[in-house]
Amino acid sequence: MKNLDSKYDVLVVGAGILGAFVSRELSKYDLKVGLIEAHNDVGNGCSGANSAIIHSGYDPAPGTLKAKFNALANPMWDEIADELDIDFTRKGSLTVALYDEQVPLLKELIERSNKNGIPTKLLTPEEVKELEPNISPKVKAALYAPTAGIIDPFNAVVNVIENAVDNGVELLLNNKVLSIKKENDYFIVGTNKNEFKTNIVINCAGVHSDQIAAMIEPIDWKTTPRRGEYFVLDHFLDGFVNHTIFPMPSEKGKGILITPTTSNNYLLGPSSELIDDYDDVSTDKPTLDKVKAQILDMVPSVPLNKVIRVFSGNRPTTTRHDFIIEYAKTDNHFINVAGIESPGFVCAPAIAEYVVKELVNKVCSLIENKNYNPRIRKHIRLNKMGHEEKVEYIKNNPDFGRIICNCERVSLGEIKDALSRNAAPTTVKGIKKRCRAGFGLCQGGFCQSKVVEILADYYNISPLDVLYDDEGSNILLKKIKEGK
Ligand SMILES: Cc1cc2nc3c(=O)[nH]c(=O)nc-3n(C[C@H](O)[C@H](O)[C@H](O)COP(=O)(O)OP(=O)(O)OC[C@H]3O[C@@H](n4cnc5c(N)ncnc54)[C@H](O)[C@@H]3O)c2cc1C
Repeated sequence: MKNLDSKYDVLVVGAGILGAFVSRELSKYDLKVGLIEAHNDVGNGCSGANSAIIHSGYDPAPGTLKAKFNALANPMWDEIADELDIDFTRKGSLTVALYDEQVPLLKELIERSNKNGIPTKLLTPEEVKELEPNISPKVKAALYAPTAGIIDPFNAVVNVIENAVDNGVELLLNNKVLSIKKENDYFIVGTNKNEFKTNIVINCAGVHSDQIAAMIEPIDWKTTPRRGEYFVLDHFLDGFVNHTIFPMPSEKGKGILITPTTSNNYLLGPSSELIDDYDDVSTDKPTLDKVKAQILDMVPSVPLNKVIRVFSGNRPTTTRHDFIIEYAKTDNHFINVAGIESPGFVCAPAIAEYVVKELVNKVCSLIENKNYNPRIRKHIRLNKMGHEEKVEYIKNNPDFGRIICNCERVSLGEIKDALSRNAAPTTVKGIKKRCRAGFGLCQGGFCQSKVVEILADYYNISPLDVLYDDEGSNILLKKIKEGK
């Protein structure tokens, strides 16, 4: 066991979008902060497997924490995306009524959006068809929410954490928290590898947040994984749909949507089923068939022959049916940021501000970090450059002329840039999340072996030891021939 001597002011458990923003917010102050994560990379929980919508905030029940933080956080994303070089566009959303009996419900949603302080507008069928020519001809009306946006969820988590680490936060990957004990006036956080001392613990463990909370006291709530399964369509036709299109919401959530993504793909989903296994992110045909049927009802011409991938993520639904953002009952140095299901992604920066300014501030003095820099180094993205700019980059550094992923046009230079940053990737999936190598039509069929080589070279390890994702996910099993 290591590390017991170095004491943290705050340890944040879980490197999803909540742990990311809470750590970044803490890095604005002179504090020793550690961000503990069970996996070998950040953003491997539901922050990397969701619809990636920056919801406008019309939907949550008025008076809930979901409604409060959604309204506060939605406007924050323009500045955050600019500071942290995150792909983000306000496309707007449409919630469509396909049947006459749904129209009164749409009017109730307008009232709800007024109570939440979110601008929305009721559109006629003609107005909807004008905005979305591929919508079902049976559309009766729609609620338009102009402030909804789409975001790159992978870069969002990575870039927020990169910035937190740039500002002094220690990222402690591969540390699964197994126990938390109070000793004198501090906690001892035991992981599979280390023991850490800390004054304050902030529990941002997503679907596992009930297990972490229960390590220090009995709790009267529980998280249950609610799985959502998706299809991803290849980028094929700009403007097939122009907005995030939702069906009418139900008790199961906001429903199965179709949306363009920041990478010009289209996402169809998610389903909504309660499951037992917290970490089961498999997909199954009967559920995906239901997703298909519901999308075809809204957008009948959706080209399902363009599906390139399916995936799923687990929402941390709690028995309280709202976010849990509060001190533990028996200890105000232990803060739960738990059960952050949808719209948790959008809410994360506002929740983080509240947690640090209202909860941490009351138990610890916050002195400004004078060296805090809200920006990260800009990324180089060849496929967003004009021809001349590209040629200039390649002239200065030929690595930018060596294309590794042909589907997404990702160069060696871009991968090397990702490797040179704080919170750098160590796995093939880590490169995929940051640079998009392997995200395209062939799903890594051509570039994966090159990415393995790049990782082996960079970390000076055998290609046999390069992982796709978590421990045990080695891609190569053994050498069959001696070579160079
Ligand atoms: C299907 C689906 C669709 C969604 N769509 C949207 C959307 O469009 N817009 C939106 O705003 N929100 C959406 N959400 C919700 C959003 O994804 C979540 O609210 C948000 O990602 C939660 O972030 P988190 O950091 O709390 O959890 P996570 O991202 O799950 O992170 C928790 C982290 O804690 C780590 N951890 C757990 N246990 C331990 C331990 N013992 N030791 C160390 N580390 C541990 C995990 O490995 C993980 O990395 C959706 C969610 C799902 C599943």
